[in-house]
Amino acid sequence: MANAPIPLIAGNWKMNTFHNDGHQLANDVAERMMNRMGPPVDVAVCPPITIAGSLCAFLAPTPIKVGAQDCSQLANGAHTGDVSAEQIANLGCACVIVGHSERRRDHHETNELVRAKAEAVHRTRMTAIICIGETQEERDAGKTIEVVTKQLEESVPESCHSGNTVIAYEPVWAIGTGRTPTSAEIAEVHQQIRDLLFERFDYDGFAIRILYGGSVNEKNAHDILRVPHVNGALVGGASLKSDTFWSIIEAVPKPSEVSAPVRVKA
Ligand code: PEP
Repeated sequence: MANAPIPLIAGNWKMNTFHNDGHQLANDVAERMMNRMGPPVDVAVCPPITIAGSLCAFLAPTPIKVGAQDCSQLANGAHTGDVSAEQIANLGCACVIVGHSERRRDHHETNELVRAKAEAVHRTRMTAIICIGETQEERDAGKTIEVVTKQLEESVPESCHSGNTVIAYEPVWAIGTGRTPTSAEIAEVHQQIRDLLFERFDYDGFAIRILYGGSVNEKNAHDILRVPHVNGALVGGASLKSDTFWSIIEAVPKPSEVSAPVRVKA
């Protein structure tokens, strides 16, 4: 048995919040974080890029990290509307979500592009939160493991290690719907992701955090965060209210409640 990684609770604010309400939300979470006595946890918020810079400055004295929701795979140049990982790092951000299903769906992002974006994040020494997950149709067809395996193999670059990468398993059908997989279903996919990370990155693959995302809320967080190989949560809607986001942070298990069974490589 090995120690499981410190859980990460990351809030994806999507295209919500303006300057004032975003800062108020961050302030509410930061105040509680500064006075918190619970088990170890890392917390990040991923606001719209419009307020990421000012939130980086605002949250710098606190333990809360700021992330972006996407980046270009390119470093600079004539790419109107795009924002590079270099520019995001320069704001003071610590991480970037790449390959979110809403980007894959709305902007036709492929696994290859997601991998290039993750490489761009690594180039700047930030952490890439790489999202994968099956659609309802794929789950109904019994293809969940196949789909997630292909996405992981093709979206995760060789530059990954436990210090610069987090995987987020987010079933597309669970995002924003109030529906979640059962604990057994989450466990099956997280075990598969862990096995693939172990095959590819050896024992460091055990230290790469695997988050669950999709309708996590204050009611289901306790159980989800105790599923084997769930090392935290990527939270959308419930991260927009400080009370609910805080309840999820408070649901993080004590280290003694989780263990990471380590396989010995054949
Ligand atoms: C997300 O979009 O990353 C997400 C998990 O959303 P929600 O929690 O609202 O389902």
